[in-house]
Amino acid sequence: MAVQERERPEAETVGSSPARRLSVIQRGGSERHFQPTDPRIDLLRLPLAGRWLEKAVKSRRFQFAAILPNQIIFWLVIATGLIGVAVPSRNFSTAITWYVWFCAVFVMMVGAGRAWCLMCPFGGAGEWVQRRSFWQRHPISIGLHLKWPESWSRWGMLPSVGVFLAMTWGEEFLNIAGPGRPILTGLMVIFIITFAVGIFLVFDRRTFCRYLCPLTAIIGTVGSTGMVAGMRTRDREICLTCATKDCMRGSERGYPCPWYEWPGSATSNMMCGLCTECVKNCPHDNVGIFVQAPLTSVIAPLRRRLDVALAVLVFFGLVIFQQVNALGFYAPMEGTVNQFTHFSGYPNPIDYIGIIALVTGLVAAYVWGLRAVFGRERTGKAKGRVSSFAIWLAPLAYGLIPLMAADYLARQLPKFWLSSPKVIAVISDPFGYGWNLFGTAHAAIVGVQILSPEGVVISQVVLIALGTIGAVYATVRIVRRDLTKLTQHPRALTTVSAAAWTLGGAGVAALYVAMGAAT
Ligand code: SF4
Ligand code: SF4
Ligand code: SF4
Repeated sequence: MAVQERERPEAETVGSSPARRLSVIQRGGSERHFQPTDPRIDLLRLPLAGRWLEKAVKSRRFQFAAILPNQIIFWLVIATGLIGVAVPSRNFSTAITWYVWFCAVFVMMVGAGRAWCLMCPFGGAGEWVQRRSFWQRHPISIGLHLKWPESWSRWGMLPSVGVFLAMTWGEEFLNIAGPGRPILTGLMVIFIITFAVGIFLVFDRRTFCRYLCPLTAIIGTVGSTGMVAGMRTRDREICLTCATKDCMRGSERGYPCPWYEWPGSATSNMMCGLCTECVKNCPHDNVGIFVQAPLTSVIAPLRRRLDVALAVLVFFGLVIFQQVNALGFYAPMEGTVNQFTHFSGYPNPIDYIGIIALVTGLVAAYVWGLRAVFGRERTGKAKGRVSSFAIWLAPLAYGLIPLMAADYLARQLPKFWLSSPKVIAVISDPFGYGWNLFGTAHAAIVGVQILSPEGVVISQVVLIALGTIGAVYATVRIVRRDLTKLTQHPRALTTVSAAAWTLGGAGVAALYVAMGAAT
């Protein structure tokens, strides 16, 4: 295994942003890019806690301390999954992962963006191995240090979408999250950690997190609804004249941005892993941790990425598939398709891909129709001309994010409301061997369902209503800013765009009612 010098300045130029060619810049966007769009509340400048927080994040031990508890939990998940009892509700691996963790990660995404990435054991394990250090700044790190090829980076987060689709299919096929046999949950975690460490040893920095992690695309898109804006610069003028760009290039105080981001140009929280290296690195003390109003990272960006737009459509298709497959008609339909294709098991890949493609295609067709009806520009040189499909797809897909995010969170609720108290028992008896380490193995609350099945459905419908309101609000803001100048009927366009996601939300809520709290 080659050992290389860590400094790789050629990759740290501003504008090396991957997925550039898959992006849509709204008219005037490049000029406005450096206008102050940053949120105003800097957690490191809060009157009381700010100083304490700044000291904490400037410590090299900060991210290690955030990752360590999850690292311990996930190795316990592996151990209990492999050698614990084969009863999902009595085994720590299945109970913690599927009754609590998956739901908690989605709550974190919707509320706080990439907060999970700050404490993630998968990226943490890969980085510790790559850096040969838990927290210290080593000048050299191990691995092949390959660059993710430019021709691949144009696909942005789509490889991660592919990995997520493949893993979700595998998970459903093996009934891992059902939850099924705990050993499968343990093996799944081993697979992800091995995959992560392997990629960290082949490619530089957090290439795995940026492009390949099965969770990165879903966290990036769903997390853009969240209130953590990520690391932003306090004064962009300082960045423009900064000679060293230590945030990107690294210094003796910290590593170069592992996610290949530049805080000086950030307009969304989508690709900042909150690792705090730039806070440690900046010689001008110009980086803060900012919070923002919900949905800001959905609405504010002037450069919209087509890979993100496609990811949103595919993810929406996937969660709709997961809803549809819980309905009564699905099993007989699947049986027919299985018979026809000589496939045994669930889900049939044709159903799986077909339903996702159908939903994706329907949303794309709606955007196409909208553009066909409303897409004649009303002003300027392009008056009367119809602008490209991409210019229409990207903003409208971003507007769908709040509904898609709410749908994923709502899908996790039944397991949480109906089964999460079981975790209290498995904490005392993680392997299911009959232990009672903390005296909670037989606690009365263990058999309690936090909500009745009817309550679960109501909570899902309420969540979808909130997601729909968020989608409509975001879409109206986005359409007014980015699309009304591309049409001769701005009011009608705004109304129809808002009505479409309202109808979509109503459809999703109806599916939850029909599912009746199915897990
Ligand atoms: S991108 Fe994936 S591996 Fe990387 S920190 Fe986030 S969840 Fe973990
Ligand atoms: S090192 Fe600091 S001032 Fe320089 S570009 Fe980075 S964030 Fe801006
Ligand atoms: S170095 Fe800064 S911009 Fe880069 S991922 Fe870490 S926190 Fe985000």
